[in-house]
Amino acid sequence: MIRIDNLHFSYPDGNFHLDISELSIKQGESIAIIGPSGSGKTTLLNLICGISRPQRGDIFIDDLSINTQSEKALRQYRIAHIGMVFQSFELLEYLNVLDNILLPYRLDKTLRIEKETVIRAEDIAKTFSMEDKLQRYPSQLSQGEQQRVAIMRALITGAKLIIADEPTGNLDPVNTNLVADLLLNFVKKEGATLVTVTHDHTFAKRFDRVIDFTQLIEGEKDV
Ligand code: ADP
Ligand code: MG
Repeated sequence: MIRIDNLHFSYPDGNFHLDISELSIKQGESIAIIGPSGSGKTTLLNLICGISRPQRGDIFIDDLSINTQSEKALRQYRIAHIGMVFQSFELLEYLNVLDNILLPYRLDKTLRIEKETVIRAEDIAKTFSMEDKLQRYPSQLSQGEQQRVAIMRALITGAKLIIADEPTGNLDPVNTNLVADLLLNFVKKEGATLVTVTHDHTFAKRFDRVIDFTQLIEGEKDV
């Protein structure tokens, strides 16, 4: 599903660089990436999604070479094929819960909101125990509820790749568990691949595979 080879990336300003010689992730696998703050985990997720571009190396999602696509093609690919969850939720305050969930459909004209789309949104909301809050606005929700909306938005298009950057970073232990259950069960049910960055070791244990980010980038030095 994801293949990275001989990746080298550095930001134009600053002296941070990221080198990964090899990483492969299988379709349907759930992966937790654990590593110290500032080590480049978010940078890696941005490279996988094509938000940043490497100076060298290859990144493939299925057969698509991410680093040779145009910006426009990448943007469309992301909206339709990758579900992204951020630590800071990134909900739009002026949209209610239902419209926040349906946001990918507003961002990409090739995705159409059909009757079935709304039914799917309502079904997912039911699974996430949010079906009675679809008309509320983000400011009327708890942190745990806001994060559930952010996750539902990543799942609505049926993307086969879900990328989550510290999705439980702002949640208390009870909500962390709840969100972990919902996210992991959902991706298993849909056969989607899940790549999550987390600081939470209890959460990480529940994934198919835990990747120690420090080892992933240190592996490069042995080659
Ligand atoms: P993590 O997610 O593991 O905490 P990041 O990938 O966010 O780490 O950041 C890795 C390093 O890259 C940090 O030293 C950070 O300061 C630096 N960095 C992040 N974004 C930029 C940017 N846009 N320009 C320059 N340096 C950046
Ligand atoms: Mg980060």
